[in-house]
This record gives sequence, structure tokens and C-alpha cells, in this order.
Amino acid sequence: MLKVNHATRVVVLTGAGISAESGIRTFRDSDGLWEQHRIEDVATPEAFQRDPALVWRFYMARYLQSLEAEPNAGHKALVTLEEHTHFTLITQNVDSLHSRAGNKSVLEMHGRLSSCFCTLCRTRFILPEISFDGDLPYCQRCEGLLRPDIVWFGEVPYYLQEIQSALKKCKIFLIVGTSGVVYPAAGFVMTAKYLGAKTISVNLEKPSNHSFIDEFYPGKAGDVLPGLVQELIS
Ligand code: NAD
Repeated sequence: MLKVNHATRVVVLTGAGISAESGIRTFRDSDGLWEQHRIEDVATPEAFQRDPALVWRFYMARYLQSLEAEPNAGHKALVTLEEHTHFTLITQNVDSLHSRAGNKSVLEMHGRLSSCFCTLCRTRFILPEISFDGDLPYCQRCEGLLRPDIVWFGEVPYYLQEIQSALKKCKIFLIVGTSGVVYPAAGFVMTAKYLGAKTISVNLEKPSNHSFIDEFYPGKAGDVLPGLVQELIS
């Protein structure tokens, strides 16, 4: 097993699986439904245009659920890994559990449940600051409709430049709890591997992009990651 130190550039990519043990359900594990909703009804710009109140109810419920959840042993192991390496964490998750666990270098490429922005003037607000007028919240500056700060299917993820630059330099690329089907995140492993990184995956089952993975550790993130991180840093 490769050993790491403060100079070792490590990039981690996480998906919904790392938050499963915190009680937040994944998307793929429930037959393509996310908390009983079809993804097209709640996670696309068209869905928001069609029924913004439904989309807001869905994301407010997810936000409140995320506040109840606590980071688990998998999240905490990644804090330890950050303390011992030159570290970047890319997450597809929107629950902010990595930051709440204590990770500092976090790129939330699909946005976050805890903020929203104005569809007209783009001003960002955090959720506790906004109030609903009937079913919908409006901007305190220009009265435009606010939308969740979530990158929906069909939209461009955040931080793509920072991500490409981290992938180019990384020595270890660790992927945790992601099915490997949502692009562009699913393609990062290919970039990292072609550029010479060692690629490691921790997941319940082999992800769709497993042909690019050098070492696969089957199991729950909370069970596998603490030992794997200790092994890497020892
Ligand atoms: P996904 O639901 O497609 O895949 C989750 C993967 O995690 C599966 O392969 C599953 O086998 C694995 N898994 C389940 N429990 C695990 C555990 N305890 N330990 C390790 N692996 C486990 O998730 P995705 O690949 O992240 O893509 C879904 C999209 O939905 C993402 O873009 C994300 O933005 C969004 N989403 C986010 C959250 C969240 O913020 N927590 C939750 C659901 C969906």
C-alpha cells in the first residue's frame, strides 16, 4: 500500500453513498427515485420552471433533513486524511456534511442545500435569511424568484477549472460512495488515471467506471475508510 505525507497530493471524490450512514438516502439505491420523487420532477431547470413550489418543497425538506444528520465515521476519516496530505475534496453531495465534519478544502460541485440565489440578479442568500411569500421566496434586492443553489441535471457543475487542475497533479485519487454514472464526475477517474494517479474506490458495489480503478474496497464507507486512511498515513 502506498504511503502518504504532507506533500502527497490526494484528491477525493465523494457521492451520496458516504452520507448514507448519516441517514441521507442515496439516489440510485432507491430505484432511481430520490426520496420518492422522479429526478425529472425536481432536479432539472424545466422542473423548476414548471412547478417551482414543488421543487422548493422538495429542497426545503432535504435541507431540514440535512440539518438533522450528523457526519459519520467515513466523513471523519477524510478529515484525518486532509490533516496529513496535500488534499482536495470534490463532492457531488449537497448536504454540507464534509464541511460540518471539519474538512477545509471542499469543492461542492453540485451546489449546496443551505443556500439559494436570485434568478434575476444572481445574489446569493443562505436559507435561514430568506422568507417565503406564500409558496415561494423572492429576492430582498430585486424581487426576482429565488432558486435552490443546486446544479440540476443539464447545468454546468461548479469549480470545473479547480477540479481539472487538482486532477492533473494528484498522486492518489480516492472515490467514495458514488455509482459512477453521473457525468462529468464519473469521468474524473479516467483523467486522474491517465495522468498517472493511483485510483482507489470504496463502495458497496463496483461502480460503473470500475475499469479505471486500481484498488477496489467493497463495503460501507464508515467501516472501510477509517482503516484505509490509517493504513495510508501510517
Ligand atoms: P448514487 O446514488 O448514484 O450512488 C451512490 C453509490 O453509493 C452507489 O453505488 C451505492 O452502492 C453506494 N453506497 C451506498 N451506501 C454506501 C455506503 N454506506 N458506503 C459506500 N458506498 C455506498 O450517488 P451519486 O453517484 O452521488 O449520484 C447521485 C446524484 O444525486 C449526485 O449528483 C448528488 O448530487 C445527488 N444526491 C446527493 C445526496 C446528498 O447530498 N447526500 C443524496 C442523494 C443524491
